[in-house]
Amino acid sequence: MSATTLPQYIDAQKWADREAVIDQAFPLAAFARVCEGAASSEGEVRVSIRVHRDAQGLIVLEGKLSTGVALICQRCLEPVVTDVNADVQLWLLWNEEAADQLPDEADFVLQDAEGRIDLVDVLEDELLLALPLVAAHEDCQPYQVADVNEVEVEVAVVETPKRENPFQVLTGLKAGHDKK
Ligand SMILES: [Zn+2]
Repeated sequence: MSATTLPQYIDAQKWADREAVIDQAFPLAAFARVCEGAASSEGEVRVSIRVHRDAQGLIVLEGKLSTGVALICQRCLEPVVTDVNADVQLWLLWNEEAADQLPDEADFVLQDAEGRIDLVDVLEDELLLALPLVAAHEDCQPYQVADVNEVEVEVAVVETPKRENPFQVLTGLKAGHDKK
């Protein structure tokens, strides 16, 4: 394969018959849904996959995806480039009944009526699953607006004398009650 763009649809039978391999980098921008949640769509995704048949004759797409995606750090809100690596092992099945022949934990996608797989969509799903739930720099300071600190300090100073010991409040209530 020497295509510069990732093929959107692949014919599962044909690709399995010729044991097709893709081993090259594609722009991250080709994976629109991954870019949606990213701070930037710059970068590349290394796609190393092959399509072949397993011992039972079922079609499998296997391989690895790796990229670095700029996500938003949940502490400092600056971009943090996060390594994303996905091991892919997906059976490309003609119908759901064929899934009965697979091990319990095997993942599969169904071919469309013409025996095709939306490869971009499938790989995108794998990348999305491999994204961390929370992105953060290993070492960074929490995001702060400079003025917020001062406001908080002032509020604290004003409020502290007003705070009453909850037991004192109870005592006060009790005293008030007793007076009735
Ligand atoms: Zn950070």
